Amino acid sequence: MRESAQVVSRTLGVVAEHIGPGVTPLQLDKLAEEYIRDQGAVPGFLGLYDFPNTLCTSLNEHVVHGIPGKVELREGDVLSVDCGAIKNEFYGDHAYSFAIGEVSQEVKDLLRVTKESLYLGIEQMTAGKRLGDIGHAIQKHAEDHGYGVVRDLVGHGLGRVMHEDPQVPNYGRPGRGKKLKNGLVLAIEPMINMKDWRVRQLDDGWSIVSRDGKPSAHFEHDVAIVNGKPDILSTFDYVDEALAKNANAS
Ligand code: MG
Ligand code: MG
Repeated sequence: MRESAQVVSRTLGVVAEHIGPGVTPLQLDKLAEEYIRDQGAVPGFLGLYDFPNTLCTSLNEHVVHGIPGKVELREGDVLSVDCGAIKNEFYGDHAYSFAIGEVSQEVKDLLRVTKESLYLGIEQMTAGKRLGDIGHAIQKHAEDHGYGVVRDLVGHGLGRVMHEDPQVPNYGRPGRGKKLKNGLVLAIEPMINMKDWRVRQLDDGWSIVSRDGKPSAHFEHDVAIVNGKPDILSTFDYVDEALAKNANAS
């Protein structure tokens, strides 16, 4: 499963290399599909529940499940990119929200806090703790900053199937819910709205957007419990490297 998660991590690195103003999400989608197949893996989302693409690309007020389109990204946008791949019969599922060019301080803060909430949730993923501990850690950090935690969509177990039990809400009460055990693999994925947590689905049957039209962010890691402790199978290292390189070049 680490291998599957790493394929997706490297794919997001490729996305990070190419993302920027003037690029279309559909171009990123094609690059991602090609890269995944080059790795001897199969796109995990393409055809899953009839989803038409390799990436979910969700722009600004779009939370998740956006279909990559041909509209060019613009300076100040935020694009959440979610990617799945199957390698050796196991799924990887991993997401990153990208600032396009220079974004507002408000958006920068939203991205930073959402990423922080992901790692705070992961810290709770130790044997003997409960699902509610993960959700609570994420919710507390997000709400302390005045943000809304999306309720309608949640993280999940991961394995030979993309969405396995248990569901992993990004909200909850400490000490409540299923007990966490060694060997469990979860996709932990806070979806955090800048203000109101409520969302709605667009007529395309996929795109989930914030009801108030304010931006949303989404970061996701695949995490296993090994020897009682969280072991993050995916990594943002490839994204960070590519973004640093782009920043130096410009
Ligand atoms: Mg995902
Ligand atoms: Mg997921």
